[in-house]
Amino acid sequence: MQWGVYIHIPFCRQKCFYCDFPSYAGREQQMKAYTEALCQEIAIQGLSYRQKWGRPATVYIGGGTPTALPAAYMTEILTAIAAHLGTDVPEFTVECNPGTVDRDYFKVLQAGGVNRLSFGVQSFNDKLLKRIGRIHSVEEAVAAVRAAQQAGFTNLSVDLMYGLPGQTLQDVADSIAQAQTLAVQHISIYGLQLEEGTVFARQESQGRLVLPADDETEAMYDYINEKLPQLGFARYEVSNFARPGKESRHNLGYWQDVPYLGLGAAAHSYLEGRRYENTADIAAYINRINTGASAGQLEEEPTPQHIMEEFAFLALRTAEGLSREKFAAKFNRELSEVYGRTMSDLEKKGLLTVDEKGCRLTAKGFKYGNWVFAEFLL
Ligand code: SF4
Repeated sequence: MQWGVYIHIPFCRQKCFYCDFPSYAGREQQMKAYTEALCQEIAIQGLSYRQKWGRPATVYIGGGTPTALPAAYMTEILTAIAAHLGTDVPEFTVECNPGTVDRDYFKVLQAGGVNRLSFGVQSFNDKLLKRIGRIHSVEEAVAAVRAAQQAGFTNLSVDLMYGLPGQTLQDVADSIAQAQTLAVQHISIYGLQLEEGTVFARQESQGRLVLPADDETEAMYDYINEKLPQLGFARYEVSNFARPGKESRHNLGYWQDVPYLGLGAAAHSYLEGRRYENTADIAAYINRINTGASAGQLEEEPTPQHIMEEFAFLALRTAEGLSREKFAAKFNRELSEVYGRTMSDLEKKGLLTVDEKGCRLTAKGFKYGNWVFAEFLL
């Protein structure tokens, strides 16, 4: 049985200006109790699903900034994972912030079975890093990736962003070139989204946020999608590019209907067709676990129609696309019977490729992905 585990670490040194993820700065005093509660949740929930489904195919520790935790707490978490979820997890990823790691930290991760690292870099330009509230410099990002390689990691990813205030097409090109020079295996690249409650949203409302013009952002998007494949990074999802065989199996699972168990505050789970969400409040999370209560609750029960739509547009995010065989196996209905008309309309507009296997986005379809996904609402 293929399944994954996501573990959330809700701590950051400082809140980046664009970020609305469930993560908090200045909560060092909660780290110890959080680690203990998390290890307990791993022992109870993790073990129960391992007994049911065997060792997970993937484990992903994300955040927040997992590496904001002192190495001793990280060791406790890795030990709990090995004890209750199993050792030799085929793909075991930890997100790293370059401002929080060194060679010793990488050794700790490696000893705990971690075999993939995802670095939140966002840009290889010091001015931009400052402008978006990152805690690290370009030099530290480069040094972190090199230290990981020296420690023996051979499966590395960097996150980059485009559409940032003050960013030019040349900056995007330089960041991609730098990632290429660092010989990483995977690049995730996201366009800036203005999210409520962030520093950027506030600056915007005060007229203090100057973003690149739409045509400049579009030129960045076009450059990224042309350049990365030329450099040997194939696009396998809307925002994700990898060298052959280095796709994130964990993230692919989210789009391919693979069940996952989420542990930690704000973690989401997808188990036996139902979605659950753990409380995002760190103190409430610790309290619930310590009193033997479950940290999670069922999200609203989805309708059969909603399940079908979600299956369709999650699959469409990937290069593999929406498979006729998988659709029929899941819903006992033919894909064409439900989406035949939608698929042929979108094919005529050059947004979808349709064949005997199913359908997938064209290059144009990827660009207007949100519009295409909306067409799959029933
Ligand atoms: S380090 Fe990551 S999670 Fe933390 S504030 Fe920045 S973007 Fe958000």
